[in-house]
Amino acid sequence: MARYTGAVCRICRREGQKLFLKGERCYTGKCALTRRAYAPGQHGQARNKKSSEYGKQLRTKQFVRRYYGVLEGQFHHYFEMATKMQGVTGENLLRLLESRLDNVVYRLGFASSRAEARQLVTQGHFTVNGRRVNIPSYLTKVGEVIAVKEKSRSLDKMKALSEANSSRPTPKWLELNRDAWEAKIVAVPVREDIDLPVEETLIVELYSK
Ligand code: SF4
Repeated sequence: MARYTGAVCRICRREGQKLFLKGERCYTGKCALTRRAYAPGQHGQARNKKSSEYGKQLRTKQFVRRYYGVLEGQFHHYFEMATKMQGVTGENLLRLLESRLDNVVYRLGFASSRAEARQLVTQGHFTVNGRRVNIPSYLTKVGEVIAVKEKSRSLDKMKALSEANSSRPTPKWLELNRDAWEAKIVAVPVREDIDLPVEETLIVELYSK
C-alpha cells in the first residue's frame, strides 16, 4: 500500500503535536518538535494560529490520519464503516483505527513506532490465532491472539525491540504475556483507552458537510 515517505518530523511540526512517528527519538530531547516547536517552512514562526471552524476540522482529521499512518482514501473508508456501526461515529472511527494490526503491534510494544510496526507486519513476523497475517490494516477482533511468529522470536531485532519498549504501558483492552510473545484482545477499546488528545466530533462534522 502507498504511504507517506517524506520527512516525518515536519508532519508533527505542522500539526503542532507529537505523533510519535520516529520511534525512540520521539521520547528524547532530540525530538524536532521539542527543539523547534513551530510550523516548518520559511514563515513557520510567523504563521497566524487563529483558524476557522473548517480549518480546525481539517487539522483534526489530518492529525488523526497521520497519527495512525493512514492515507486519505482509506481513512474515509474507515469513516464510512464507522457511520454504519452502532454507537457514536467519532468513537467508532477511533476504535477501528486502534484495531488495525499495525497499531496493536505498536501498542503491545513490539515496535517503536506505527511505521515500524507496519513494516514488521508486512515482513510476516506476526500471527493472528496461529495464522501468519502480513496485512497491517487487518482489523483485529475481541478474542483473537496476536503473537510474534515463533521463528521471529529469536531474532536480535525482535528481542531488542521488545526489550526497548517493555516499559510502555499496555492498554487494558490488550492482555499481554511478554514472556510468551503474545497478547489477547480482551475487549473493544473504549474512548478512555485511546490516548489521543483530539475532539473526534470535528472529523464527523468535516465529513458530514
Ligand atoms: Fe514527531 Fe517523533 Fe519527530 Fe518528535 S521525533 S517530531 S515526535 S516524529
